Amino acid sequence: MQKIYMDHGATTPLKEEVLEAMLPYLKNIFGNPSSLHSFGREARKALDESREKVARALGASPEEIIFTSGGTEANNLAIQGVARSLSSGGGGHIITSSIEHHAVLDTVKYLANTGFEVTFLPVDEYGMVDPGELAARITDQTILVSIMTANNEIGTIQPFEEIGRICRERGVYFHTDAVQAIGHLPFNLKEQPIDMLSLSAHKFYGPKGAGALYVRKRSKLKQVIFGGSQERKLRPGTENLPGVVGLGRAIELATSDIEGKSKYLKNLRDRLIKGLLEIEDVRLNGHPQKRLPGNVNVSVLYVEGEALLLSLDLKGIAVSSGSACTSGSLDPSHVLLAIGLDHQAAHGSVRLTLGKDNTPQEVDYTLEAVKEIVERLRKMSSVYKK
Ligand SMILES: *Cc1c(COP(=O)(O)O)cnc(C)c1O
Repeated sequence: MQKIYMDHGATTPLKEEVLEAMLPYLKNIFGNPSSLHSFGREARKALDESREKVARALGASPEEIIFTSGGTEANNLAIQGVARSLSSGGGGHIITSSIEHHAVLDTVKYLANTGFEVTFLPVDEYGMVDPGELAARITDQTILVSIMTANNEIGTIQPFEEIGRICRERGVYFHTDAVQAIGHLPFNLKEQPIDMLSLSAHKFYGPKGAGALYVRKRSKLKQVIFGGSQERKLRPGTENLPGVVGLGRAIELATSDIEGKSKYLKNLRDRLIKGLLEIEDVRLNGHPQKRLPGNVNVSVLYVEGEALLLSLDLKGIAVSSGSACTSGSLDPSHVLLAIGLDHQAAHGSVRLTLGKDNTPQEVDYTLEAVKEIVERLRKMSSVYKK
């Protein structure tokens, strides 16, 4: 059976070149970068080189890169780190959006339960934060604004530079979860008004369990886990050297020819969107233009997204649905509800995220499969009368 992977928003396969770069560090180069002997120095050298690669890819300085275990940890470090550093008398005000990844949302909710005040900005029907509204919500108590660069479910790209400029003018730290954006949007952090940025290697053809937090020089951040003095004490613990090396190689590859790769993905994306919208009662979720090049999210009315996902899986096609079945519940996604979808449209949503190896033929095959399955599922549906 033909296998088609259209879930690159969840994770991506490891690139061959990345694996090749990692292999020596899984085999003979095993030293601890903190050791002073030759084994340690060899490991330290690889660690430094990877840090330089990540910095170069982002237009940052090596000292501004803190390696973490991934996007979740980077988000936690940024938010809790600022909260611990700047809370005056145990509190402070944090602004975020209502469509953040749970790694941000649940971190600020936790802080809200421990004395911080949190504002969850609403978004419009496309999932956009309004910078004017954000500016209006900043007070002299505000210590941090955390708004994602691009949304993982609906692909909407935020006006993050404008948001960053507002934060800078007001003297408030700006953190952005860029996990979905790396490799799709170019960054030059020397010029962009971003103080902290999270990324994760497995979302751009690197290994799982490796990520980083960019922290602009002189930012006040306190550690959230305790131990050794690795990563300027901000992330104690022996470094995941194979992962870090993989991250370095992966980001180098991901940030070369972003334009060419985006163009390829956008073509596939728009072909897929066009075909899906030809099916009756299908609606696009997220912004029509300001969206990630590989992201497609639609609501197929009178169909359960979960049923569509499982039927596609039987045909070898991997997609994801808008119900958070991963969390063990069938609650509709907080993102889809935030953009104003009713429960029926939210439950009927599926996300297809394209990657470099997808082809126009795969898109067409998938469209045929979706059409056939939707027709069959609707025939069985009691609410679908047409
Ligand atoms: C995947 C993802 C994360 C979590 O990253 P991990 O490395 O899996 O912990 C955070 N934010 C966004 C937007 C993501 O897509």
